[in-house]
Amino acid sequence: MDRGRRRTWILAVAALAPAAALGFLALGSVRSEENIRRAEADDQAREFLRVAAREIQADLDGRLPEVKARPAALSPSAPEPEEPPDLAESVRRERPDLISLLQRAHALEFSHGDSKGAAAIHAELANSIESTTTRGRLLASAARCARKAGADADAVKFYETLIAEHPDVRGESLLPLGAAARLQLISLGRDHGKLVRELLDLPLDPASEIVLLTRLEALAIPTGDRIERARVLRAAASLVLREGEVRWIRGTRGLWAVFLERGAIRVEPVEPVPSHLVARRLDELARVGGLTFVLNGPAPEGAVEADVAGGALRIAAGLADPAKLEALTSSRRAIFGGLVVLLFAAMVAGLVASLKAAQREMRLARLKSEFISGVSHELRTPLTSIRIFADLLSTPGPAEKREEHATLLKREAERLSGLVERVLDFARLEKGGATYRLEERDLASVVDEALRTFRAPKEGFTVKVTRAPEPLPARIDALGVEQIVHNLLDNAAKYATGDPEVVLRRDGAKAILEVKDRGQGIATADLPHVFETFYRGPSATPGTGLGLAIVRQIAEAHGGSVRVASAPAEGATFTVEIPLCRASSS
Ligand code: ADP
Repeated sequence: MDRGRRRTWILAVAALAPAAALGFLALGSVRSEENIRRAEADDQAREFLRVAAREIQADLDGRLPEVKARPAALSPSAPEPEEPPDLAESVRRERPDLISLLQRAHALEFSHGDSKGAAAIHAELANSIESTTTRGRLLASAARCARKAGADADAVKFYETLIAEHPDVRGESLLPLGAAARLQLISLGRDHGKLVRELLDLPLDPASEIVLLTRLEALAIPTGDRIERARVLRAAASLVLREGEVRWIRGTRGLWAVFLERGAIRVEPVEPVPSHLVARRLDELARVGGLTFVLNGPAPEGAVEADVAGGALRIAAGLADPAKLEALTSSRRAIFGGLVVLLFAAMVAGLVASLKAAQREMRLARLKSEFISGVSHELRTPLTSIRIFADLLSTPGPAEKREEHATLLKREAERLSGLVERVLDFARLEKGGATYRLEERDLASVVDEALRTFRAPKEGFTVKVTRAPEPLPARIDALGVEQIVHNLLDNAAKYATGDPEVVLRRDGAKAILEVKDRGQGIATADLPHVFETFYRGPSATPGTGLGLAIVRQIAEAHGGSVRVASAPAEGATFTVEIPLCRASSS
């Protein structure tokens, strides 16, 4: 890589690096903006939860007096029963002589499939034993065996005796036998309504109540919130409560207030939580803040959570729509990305344009310096000739020689003045363009005049003219048009061998002036440059590189244009277009 190219690369990288850095910064800022917004949403959610917790707690506290004023629901306070001793053990202790009978009943029931026989033995044993607990349990066994044997009537009898005589004896399922017997009677289709009422009125300890209510629900008998209450009560039994203090316990269906009342634990449901009004206010608040609010439900992803009522309630809040934020971020990123690409493209375009402009400037500077040395040489040649011919004229000699010298002197002076003209034209071009006085004239006659006044730089040079017979009125500067014709013919004379041809014709609203020659032509690589100021082709023919630049300037000043078509060794055709006056263009 040469030094110039390396410098260009360094410059390009130096110019584009800030754009790239800017791009990365912009994209990075989108990501950090998203993080900031997330953090803001978190803070907002935390603040919201503080408010929500306060509101819900105040709501709960506000409803306590009403809850406490309710008639106290039945609160079983009996201590939980102990596991009853093994039946065989009790019989052995109370009547060791009867133990073999009990064993026989077992054998009949479990080994011989004679449940009816087993029932009879159990009933007989019950009658022979004094202790009410053991008697009750023997009766329960008799009832069980009777049911197994399909003797429902006997079973009913045993159950009714149990209810009447041994209701509080504990069976194996922890339930008092009175309750267990009623459940069996219900399943045998006995007086359903009365039995259920009796069951629900039984004062039971929480554990037994839970067993009973679960059994009732299994029989599709509704028990309201009794199970929930019993469970809450059972949970509350493990709390250390002080008088006047309220604890909250969350059941499966709602929130329960737990407090002491005259030394006994009382549990009461508080529903709904929070009240309709508070819930609405909180929802509204969350919506305005762009948050989702969840009470006792699964917390949304990334949400913050808080406890209310001593942990009995859990609330959560989070960004309402994180996907929206993400979508916003990606669309922002796309916009920033697009802008960065545009910025890049603009910078690259600017860089390319300035590099091209710099190249053009450098070429112009080189052409200018070539022009100056060329012109000084060109000026020197006719001046030397003029001085020589003037000397010759001032010395006496034959008249025809003097005449010849005078003619040559005149020709050199004309050449000199031509050159001076070009330099002046150039000066005018440099100053920002010559000014032309456009007036309506017949273009054809102006071209005729130009052809008439054209002085060919060489002998035996004739121009073939083909032109439309009708006048071609156009707004033109006659001297400018003449200069176009002269410059193009000058070149034809300089660069072509044969005679050139001038064609002037109308083409719609334009006049077309063509100057064709059959000379050396112009190389394809030179074609785009021939109209540039100071541009000179490779030929050794003297020149300034201004002729065609002036032609183009004049054509454009007339609202027209000039172009060239040429191929090496096939001559060149210069085509000038000048707009015609509107009236004549039809
Ligand atoms: P100059 O003739 O003084 O060099 P011009 O601006 O008139 O400057 O022409 C620029 C270049 O275009 C010439 O140097 C020459 O190479 C090329 N050129 C112009 N006219 C012709 C032509 N008729 N045939 C071949 N080359 C031409």
